[in-house]
Amino acid sequence: MASIFTKIIQGEIPCEKIIETDAEIAFLDIMPSASGHTLVIPKLEVMRLEDLPETQAISLMRTLQQVAKAVSTAFDGIDYNLILNNGANAGQEVEHIHFHVLPRAEGSPGPFRKHIQYAEGEMQEVGARIRNCLWWLQFLKIFTRTDADELCRHWNWQ
Ligand code: 5GP
Repeated sequence: MASIFTKIIQGEIPCEKIIETDAEIAFLDIMPSASGHTLVIPKLEVMRLEDLPETQAISLMRTLQQVAKAVSTAFDGIDYNLILNNGANAGQEVEHIHFHVLPRAEGSPGPFRKHIQYAEGEMQEVGARIRNCLWWLQFLKIFTRTDADELCRHWNWQ
């Protein structure tokens, strides 16, 4: 079912995008509980985790792992919660499955207990920092492999 996230996927509503793949998109939460609070969603319009075909669930998890690592790296290895509110009674407001990557500093309040506001230009700066970390993590991942086929696939070499 279409939701506000459909408009984000289609580019009708702007977002501070972290990464977009064929099947997923990740972007900063507009009402963050902490700086760097990121949402990772499949492009397929489904509400619940169990509605997602298995191959897409695996793909989502792969992207989630990369994005979470980049968020953590961007904040000096900060801890984080991965949260999926699955259904209204579990706190899901947007009816399109999404994982929250929620950075947690020492002593920070529990998930969703408070919201912060980015200062002017800060959201863009945080987004750029996470994207930069993600780029380097992907670069290092490729280069620490000896798998030449993987390298070729990454750069679309024949
Ligand atoms: P839920 O309660 O459904 O798990 O969380 C939905 C999240 O989506 C909330 O944290 C909310 O701030 C975020 N959100 C809702 N609308 C928008 C939007 O238009 N843009 C962005 N970037 N985040 C949104």
